Amino acid sequence: EAVLELRNIARHYREGDARLDILVDVDLAIYPGETVALVAPSGAGKSTLLHIAGLLERADGGETLINSAPTSKMNDRERTSLRRSAIGFVYQFHHLLPEFSALENVVLPQMINGLGRKDAEGRAQQLLEYLRLGTRASHRPSELSGGEQQRVAIARAVANAPHLLLADEPTGNLDPRTAEHVFATLLTLARHSGLAALIATHNLDLAEQMDRRVTLRDGRVEELP
Ligand code: ADP
Ligand code: ADP
Repeated sequence: EAVLELRNIARHYREGDARLDILVDVDLAIYPGETVALVAPSGAGKSTLLHIAGLLERADGGETLINSAPTSKMNDRERTSLRRSAIGFVYQFHHLLPEFSALENVVLPQMINGLGRKDAEGRAQQLLEYLRLGTRASHRPSELSGGEQQRVAIARAVANAPHLLLADEPTGNLDPRTAEHVFATLLTLARHSGLAALIATHNLDLAEQMDRRVTLRDGRVEELP
């Protein structure tokens, strides 16, 4: 069964009198363990699509299913709860909490999701070690390199063992070598954990390493070779 399914998703914005049809009729299904690259020019609607898939934003039409559960009729509390347990996000900028250590940044979402501190810390430490950040656990984000910050953000995204990982230009702010390394880490982790991953990227070399590539054309998803 699909982890993420988008059916006939539509989304428009208004700008004064103008109506911008960003997503017109989006269909997309992603299965466990599958990594999908979303490659499209700026303004095509990639972030909008990721926000709708991640239950951060509602579509105007269509249905978003997470593990086969339709979400459009859920209330905001139900959507938030599903998002916290089933979906992880990585952004272009790490958005880590600056006052907290790397470890605490990975602990917090687990405690918010209901786990006790001891268990959350154990899992956070294990994840940071898996991402080769074991010796960085007590450092604040500002004391880490860009690649390390982004790896902590990845650890945070998967801390609650989500089924779906969504990433918006996760290596867009990194130099090419670091980007390659962080991306490899992301793919390894996704495959190791059987995650379904949808990753927006401008980097075609990185997109080539994923299982499938899709683009947005005139508000519709099209498969790329
Ligand atoms: P991408 O991530 O592919 O660059 P976005 O989804 O961010 O595309 O945006 C698609 C289009 O929708 C852009 O033209 C953007 O300016 C517009 N847009 C995005 N969010 C809003 C909003 N809240 N209100 C109005 N227009 C928006
Ligand atoms: P294994 O999973 O066989 O133990 P790994 O070296 O891949 O081997 O994993 C090292 C540690 O990291 C293990 O304790 C594993 O449970 C943990 N780990 C791996 N992937 C994840 C993940 N996505 N989330 C949490 N822990 C993970």
